[in-house]
Amino acid sequence: MEHSTSETFELNARRALQDPQLRGALRNLANTFGERRKLAMATVDDWEGLRERARAIKEETLAHLDKYLEAFAANAERAGAQIHWAHDAAEACQIVLRLLRERKATRVVKSKSMATEEIHLNAALEAKGLAPIETDLGEWIIQLAQETPSHIVVPAIHKSKRQIAELFVEKLGIEPTDEVAVLTRAARRILRQRFAEAQVGISGVNFGVAETGTILILENEGNVRLTTSLPKTHIALMGIEKVIPNFVDLDVFLKLLPRSGTGQRLTAYQSLITGTKRRPRCEGPEEVHIVLMDNGRSRMLGHPLTRQSLACIRCGACLNACPVYQQIGGQAYGSVYPGPIGAVITPQLIGIGKAAQLPYASSLCGACREVCPVKIDIPELLLHLRAEIVQGTASGTADQKGPVKRKFTEHLAFRLYTFAWSSPVLYEWSMRIARQLQRPPVRNGRIGKVSGLLARLVPPLGAWTAWRDAPPIAAHTFREQWREQHPGQ
Ligand code: SF4
Repeated sequence: MEHSTSETFELNARRALQDPQLRGALRNLANTFGERRKLAMATVDDWEGLRERARAIKEETLAHLDKYLEAFAANAERAGAQIHWAHDAAEACQIVLRLLRERKATRVVKSKSMATEEIHLNAALEAKGLAPIETDLGEWIIQLAQETPSHIVVPAIHKSKRQIAELFVEKLGIEPTDEVAVLTRAARRILRQRFAEAQVGISGVNFGVAETGTILILENEGNVRLTTSLPKTHIALMGIEKVIPNFVDLDVFLKLLPRSGTGQRLTAYQSLITGTKRRPRCEGPEEVHIVLMDNGRSRMLGHPLTRQSLACIRCGACLNACPVYQQIGGQAYGSVYPGPIGAVITPQLIGIGKAAQLPYASSLCGACREVCPVKIDIPELLLHLRAEIVQGTASGTADQKGPVKRKFTEHLAFRLYTFAWSSPVLYEWSMRIARQLQRPPVRNGRIGKVSGLLARLVPPLGAWTAWRDAPPIAAHTFREQWREQHPGQ
């Protein structure tokens, strides 16, 4: 993940906040997927029970990951697949590169895969003149625009129809149009040609079943099916946490993942691949290679708290629900994993020193925890990472060398806050003083835009009210009201 810009998250976020088109697109995303998710959840009898089962399956797998990975590898090989183990991103890229060279492949297609984004496989292959063509429409748009994805499930969500039309005119040479059907027809015509020519197809993996050595890939466009069945060679990149014990466990995840992510009862296609094609005349690839990649996952596994990060099934629901993501989008996170789960995973993958701002990109409202189908306690993980940042104990990362320096003013503010609010008397006095200080900027019961410049003059409130209103401190604290209503107690 050396292409990360997570170090400049605050700057990236400020830029994103200035983009009204982006914010409009994100509002639609949150509303559309949020509503669809609720409707889809209602089609399952015991949603909470299903979440519990999913979490239990993931915990069992992670507790015995070595055993399930060995079983998966043995069964996949028995079915004709070849297994490769990659310690880190560089090794995973090397393996894919070697496989392509050995087959003298020059025409490569690829379906959407977060694991390949994580290791920047495209850039590694491009550097050797072997650029794969993305075949998921959103990913292809991003590839043409030379951008990074802004969402785990819908990578081009930040782009408007007009922007995509202009991109197609520029890159594909089509006539200007604003008709979606014309745009998608143009994309299909070109991508079909690429499928027909491809010698190798590269994909990710949603789940790997230890019991059978099967991999499952979910999608809606049919491009995964073509990527994994038309070329003679299929290379699948799979994070080691994607393994699950039994085939029947897929029933749980197939109910949870599409409903949580896009609000679908089921994705349009589910490709279950168990080894190579059985007979010469059958359809399917002659070779299947599965690259099992660690790339920092063992470190996460080693800590009882961070281990739950590996339960993520990449549904994207936490992004859609997050009030921070809804304002700034995915590219501001500077990582292939944006949103709440990105704020947890990225620092653990690339090192807290390179992503120290991300665990603070949250209001800790808990919306991500509420929607997560595998019940990952993201706020707890964020707090854990914040503590590691302050204490300099980032055990899960390689590049942490002592505490990340906080601003002197911030340090002082928290010292004063701790001092004042540890004492009931000082707490009440601080409230009285704050009530007097807030008087000038309060307008119509709010502090914000209506207050004009005054709101920005008060430093801590200034950062808050630059983008939204803040409620004023109540006229009476609970203690004051209690004393008033219960004199003598
Ligand atoms: S953390 Fe949970 S909600 Fe977020 S992408 Fe992963 S599984 Fe989905």
